[in-house]
Amino acid sequence: MSNRSAYTYGDGFNHDFTDEDAFMLVNIASSPEHRLHTCRWVDNAGRCGHDIQGVSFPAHFRDRHGIAFLDTRFMKCQWEDCMECIRGNLFLHMQQKHLAWRYPCFNCGAEFPLKNMRDVHFTQCKATVNWGLPNKSE
Ligand SMILES: [Zn+2]
Ligand SMILES: [Zn+2]
Ligand SMILES: [Zn+2]
Repeated sequence: MSNRSAYTYGDGFNHDFTDEDAFMLVNIASSPEHRLHTCRWVDNAGRCGHDIQGVSFPAHFRDRHGIAFLDTRFMKCQWEDCMECIRGNLFLHMQQKHLAWRYPCFNCGAEFPLKNMRDVHFTQCKATVNWGLPNKSE
């Protein structure tokens, strides 16, 4: 990333974003999808140990470990010290057990174990919490 000029402000004031927008961006940037998580998957080559951004985990597992998260076969989780047998969504198991992944509401910060729970909540939360913002078209 080389284009940093848009984020440089000489006078310390935020010209492009309202405080609420900035707050929301910080929350999005630190949400688990964008955080780095260490992969501790163990296979023939040993423990993986790569730091992977949350959103890249499915691609990482497909490319490095040959595992598709939508695969619903019964399989053993090879996360370090786990060895649990999983039927269904392995990614969900890893998010909940190994990555301590919670989806925070961008608005109020409440955390949810599932993305769609957060999204449903966020839609309502955004509509009900009054930020005192002028009407913005979305
Ligand atoms: Zn890995
Ligand atoms: Zn596991
Ligand atoms: Zn909320």
